[in-house]
Amino acid sequence: MAPTSAAAHAASDASATSSAQPAPSALDAAEPAPVDVCAEAERAPKLPRPTDPRDLLFHVSRARAIPAEFPVSATSIWSPCSQVGAPPRRSDDLVCVPASYSHLNREALRAAAFESDAPANFSRTHDALPVGRDGKIGFKAMLDDAAAAGHTLRLRSGFRAYTMQSATFSGWVAAELAQGRTREYALRKVDASSARAGHSEHQLGTTADLVFARPNGAFYTGWTQETYAESPAMAWVAANAHRFGLVMSYDKDHEGASEYVWEPWHYRFVGAEAADLMKRCGWSTEQYLELRYGEDTTPRAEHASRSLVPSVTPTYTEKSR
Ligand SMILES: [Zn+2]
Repeated sequence: MAPTSAAAHAASDASATSSAQPAPSALDAAEPAPVDVCAEAERAPKLPRPTDPRDLLFHVSRARAIPAEFPVSATSIWSPCSQVGAPPRRSDDLVCVPASYSHLNREALRAAAFESDAPANFSRTHDALPVGRDGKIGFKAMLDDAAAAGHTLRLRSGFRAYTMQSATFSGWVAAELAQGRTREYALRKVDASSARAGHSEHQLGTTADLVFARPNGAFYTGWTQETYAESPAMAWVAANAHRFGLVMSYDKDHEGASEYVWEPWHYRFVGAEAADLMKRCGWSTEQYLELRYGEDTTPRAEHASRSLVPSVTPTYTEKSR
């Protein structure tokens, strides 16, 4: 009900009963007007765009790249955790995801994205849901909470080194060429669903793709968006991710803004308050970062065709955003 009609209603009630009550109009005036946080965020002064990829709100896009050496000069095609059986190693602040949270036991994430303290002064989301689980946010807390709700989830792709993203993109192009496509066609097709080296959120170490278990216990390993969207586990994630500081980077409604197709499995950790604001206002990551930092005028990089020749032949079949 609008405040004005509530005040009018209360005033008529008061005049019909007792004049000893405080004037309702005075009580109403003490109530603050509701704040439109989305409009406020849109009006806020633009902030400097972070230059450190460790910033949770670093802007990576088709135009803006992550330095090749971030966060380590990784030479492994997979990640610091790629060797099966190798002891977990820390590299910079990357941690190996424990096997019980990992689909293939090779994922690495920055420690903050895997598990962080929930913000002390922010305990409820805009839709009145509890922030975090046991005082923690990040992928681990979300998977734990999903399990408590009866959904089995795993991470199947976390941090990717620059070298791996390069090989991933090249591998998809090579697969198209092997089918007799022209190079122009192959590049156009792969560009719609795969990031060039330097331009993948996976290189930040704060992003992971999720895989869910079906009722029979087997993990769904296809890449059909509708299958994801219709699964109870991923519906739970879509409704709860913001509680853990996570956002779906490429959603169905923002394919134009990101220039990438819908990826209901791809989540990025941005922190609880940013995730809640984006969920509340219906903004994609790209929209929010442009709002926060202003329009990105970085010219899109020209990619030399020689960089598309894979130096290592990929042996996997994962999507590669
Ligand atoms: Zn992804």
